[in-house]
Amino acid sequence: MTPRQFGEMEGPKGAEASTETARLRTYQGWRQFVVQRHRASRLHYDLRFEVDGVLVSWAVPKGPTLDPDVRRLAIHVDDHALDYLDFEGVLPGNGYGAGDVIVWDIGRWEPYKSDDPAGELADGELHARVYGEKLRGKMVLMRTGIRQGKEWWLLLHKRDEFAECGWDAEKHRRSVLTGRTNEEVAKQGEVSD
Ligand code: MN
Repeated sequence: MTPRQFGEMEGPKGAEASTETARLRTYQGWRQFVVQRHRASRLHYDLRFEVDGVLVSWAVPKGPTLDPDVRRLAIHVDDHALDYLDFEGVLPGNGYGAGDVIVWDIGRWEPYKSDDPAGELADGELHARVYGEKLRGKMVLMRTGIRQGKEWWLLLHKRDEFAECGWDAEKHRRSVLTGRTNEEVAKQGEVSD
């Protein structure tokens, strides 16, 4: 994998908001998170947490997991606008970020170790309790270093009541918003909703 590729041309930042966003805002008062499965030049999952009005983001090549025995590489990428939360569609072009995107999981989250997620991010360790449709329970992101200009983090799931050994994101491939696969989104063309 070439980490330099991640984070470039990550798509429209806020330009593709859809009507679903309003529905999702019924979680008012809660921080939101999303995981988008993105078939770019290399498949990855974009993990995004709402912090201080933006979506702080990581590209996770193998996807997040409920398996407490695995550690996933997560490459920090550019923040995205909140309106990108429910983007599902095809990103046009030939660059790295081109490709189809589904909303693989979505929900709310809360920091469980402090009330200061921005401070946790600055310190390189984010503790998040997530309430998604696929992902549940306590997850931790830990910064491990910088390679080729990108922050490399590790993503893990705590050994809690939602942990499940052997759980693999690739066995749960459909959009939680529309039930579609990436392949189905790609066939329907460059229409986002
Ligand atoms: Mn992406």
